[in-house]
Amino acid sequence: MAIVNNQLPTGEPSKIFGRGPVKVSSVGTFPNHRRSSTRKSPPGMPELPDIVVYLDALEERIAGTELESVSIASPFLLRTFDPPLEATFGRSVTELKRLGKRIAIGLDGELWLVLHLMIAGRLNWKPTGAKLSGKVGQALFRFSTGSLILTEAGSKKRASLSVVRSEDLLDHDPGGIDVLVCSVEEFREALTLTNRTLKRQLTNPRLFSGIGNAFSDEILHRARLSPISQTQKLSDDEVHSLFAATRDVLQEWITRLQNQRKANFPGRVTAFRPEMAVHGKYGQPCPVCGKPVQRIVYAENETNYCAQCQTGGRVLADRSLSRLLKQDWPRRIEDWEEAD
Ligand SMILES: [Zn+2]
Repeated sequence: MAIVNNQLPTGEPSKIFGRGPVKVSSVGTFPNHRRSSTRKSPPGMPELPDIVVYLDALEERIAGTELESVSIASPFLLRTFDPPLEATFGRSVTELKRLGKRIAIGLDGELWLVLHLMIAGRLNWKPTGAKLSGKVGQALFRFSTGSLILTEAGSKKRASLSVVRSEDLLDHDPGGIDVLVCSVEEFREALTLTNRTLKRQLTNPRLFSGIGNAFSDEILHRARLSPISQTQKLSDDEVHSLFAATRDVLQEWITRLQNQRKANFPGRVTAFRPEMAVHGKYGQPCPVCGKPVQRIVYAENETNYCAQCQTGGRVLADRSLSRLLKQDWPRRIEDWEEAD
């Protein structure tokens, strides 16, 4: 999937981005050499704040209601066969849970529906009687209070639905710690378990729950740490600052998204939001120092950072970086989700 579509202001495609998996680029002093990113961005995988807000909206609409039936557009969406999907029909919703970036809907009779939206999957709420239609409609869950529709844009269908017994539910949790409730010691233990780059470690779902490409950029910017710093080389102060930044950024975004949706079902869920400091802001001024936001484009991923705030003014662009990323960073966006 070609997601890098760099167009420089002249309209000429950038030649430096065409070779090899590692592509780095820098921008000059803002605003004289401003180059905004015009690549066509995928919407980004919903991360912890997005999932928390989806769950809140679902709680208001389906807690205690009956799941009447489910229709799916393609059998590929359903990744389990036992218990069958029909076993969930006519059951009441008892609980809603976040498992990493997955949404789990608990039903009486110890059954769960587990939804993984992946990159392009989104949820919509419609009145009772809604139909599953169009190329993007993937699943329709009919509750007594209305219809929950799973859509997935694009030709790559990666979103998934699983029907799971309670005793098997944890198999669907990647196992990362919940950074909103863990202690700094638990955070440090997960962070330093292996010596990887900060970007890679923070987005490892087996270590930290719900943090992906967008919020890791925002967290590292808040902590003023480089995305390629090595986890086992951080000072005690840096670990504390990263811990605080992680909690603050995620909590602030949960509050912001909750305020934005008001009582509505979350509408435009995207990893590219105007209030973000650096993620998706290549070439735009850093809100802290005003210098242009930089990027590392590696295979399908773009990482954004501020050189002034995070890397001592150094733009990350040399051969050693290429080698480091090759060893440490997955190539495909979905592989960040499955990284170990
Ligand atoms: Zn800055």
